[in-house]
Amino acid sequence: MQEKLVKCPKCGNSNLYNIYNIIDVDKEYYLRKEVLNQSIFKYECKCGYKTQMFYPTLYKNLSKNFMVEFASKSDASRFKNSLDSFGIPDTNFIFRIVTRPFELTEKILVLESGYDDRIIEILKEMILASTTDKKISYLIFARDKEIEYTFLCLDENNVAKAMIPFRKDLYDSVYDMFYSKLNDNTYVIDQDWAREFLCEVNVWHTKNFLINFVKKIMNIRIRIIQYMIIQRMNLIWLYLVRR
Ligand SMILES: [Zn+2]
Repeated sequence: MQEKLVKCPKCGNSNLYNIYNIIDVDKEYYLRKEVLNQSIFKYECKCGYKTQMFYPTLYKNLSKNFMVEFASKSDASRFKNSLDSFGIPDTNFIFRIVTRPFELTEKILVLESGYDDRIIEILKEMILASTTDKKISYLIFARDKEIEYTFLCLDENNVAKAMIPFRKDLYDSVYDMFYSKLNDNTYVIDQDWAREFLCEVNVWHTKNFLINFVKKIMNIRIRIIQYMIIQRMNLIWLYLVRR
C-alpha cells in the first residue's frame, strides 16, 4: 500500500489517499469487503467533497486460484496484448482483466463461488435475449440475502430495476451445452465476449434448446426492486505509474 497526496477537485487541498497496487486477500482478508463494497476507492475531503477514485490494481486470491486485474480500458488492452503474446498457460489458475468497478466485484463473486465465469456470461446473455423487457440491457451476478445469488437487471443508464434469481439448473444446462465448445483464448470475459461466442457457436439456430430455455426463463419470478444506482459510469481514474 502506498499513500499519495491527491488534490481535491473541489477545493484544491491535498489529502492522503491509500493506493493498493496489489490487493492480496490471502494476506489481508479485510480488504475483500472493502473491494466488494468499493469503499477501498472512496476519496473524502474536509471540505465535504466525496467521490470514488479508481486506479489500476491487481486483486489476488491465490487460495481460490484466481487473480483479477482492474485497469482502465487503454491499459487493459495493452496489458492483454502483452499477455497474449506469451500464450495462455495450461493450468487451472484463472486470470481476468476487467475495466469497470462493478465488473471487478462481479468477477470476484463469480470466481469465489466456483462457477465458471464464461458460463455465467453466456447465461446472462441468453437470459437477456429471452426476456421481453427491452428496458433491461445488462445483468450483474450479485449476492442476495434471501436467495444465495441473483442477477441484478440494469437499464441503459445502469440503474438496477429488477432481480432475477440465479438458477443452478439453468446454469447446469448452459454448462452442458457449451462447456466442450469453450476455449481459453482470452483474459477478458464479459458481455462482448459472450455475444461473440454465441454467434460463433450459432446457438440461435439450435431451436429446441432455445425454446426450452425461454420457457424456463418465463417461469422465473422477476422481482422488481427499488431504483438503485449501481455505479456511475464516468470513472475518475488516477493515473499512476505502476511499480
Ligand atoms: Zn476539498
